[in-house]
Amino acid sequence: MPGTLHDNGNFSVEDILVNPSHELSRIEPANYTPPVLPAETSDGERKIWELLATVPDPEVPVLSVVDLGIIRKVLIEEQIATSPELAATDTTKKNQAVVVTITPTYSGCPAMDAIALNIRVVLLQHGYRNIKIETVLSPAWTTEWMSEAGKQKLKAYGIAPPNPMQQVCRPAPFQQQEAIQCPRCNSYHTQLISQFGSTACKAFYQCQDCKEPFDYFKCH
Ligand SMILES: [Zn+2]
Repeated sequence: MPGTLHDNGNFSVEDILVNPSHELSRIEPANYTPPVLPAETSDGERKIWELLATVPDPEVPVLSVVDLGIIRKVLIEEQIATSPELAATDTTKKNQAVVVTITPTYSGCPAMDAIALNIRVVLLQHGYRNIKIETVLSPAWTTEWMSEAGKQKLKAYGIAPPNPMQQVCRPAPFQQQEAIQCPRCNSYHTQLISQFGSTACKAFYQCQDCKEPFDYFKCH
């Protein structure tokens, strides 16, 4: 990949703005779901969440990183400029820093670098300059953080969405009788073919009624 990848996985502003190869994929307008946010979310933070909802998950491009639930926090830090020039002229002048906290779907997920880069690019393209992307591993991501809209989109894409954790994950993680619904015909008459589907996050199933083979997004 062209450009200078720094040790922390961040491209410089110049790398991204001058290099057209950083024009990365965006979620299709039909798949855009506005983020569901608490009422007290500030307008500035709301705008950032809405931008993040256009960043697709590289593995399931109909899902945004917001649908997937890996964006844990968005914070705008007002930083008072401390340079002597600014202090002399305008003591109220501030710089905004955007801090986006993400939690990978599993530690060592190879898509996370692409996701962090995608987030940085979309924010840069909308005029944000001071961007920090922080990765937090604990508490670990759980499929319960996936939005309802995300689960519906996953199903429409042909991947069975994760079942609620208390039904499947807790009693016996690998029991054979998991009732996984076929995303094509909605039958529960499905069979586990392999614990690993197209990626480590998914298991491979086949529907016994319509014979459709499909990935199931494992709960964890
Ligand atoms: Zn089926």
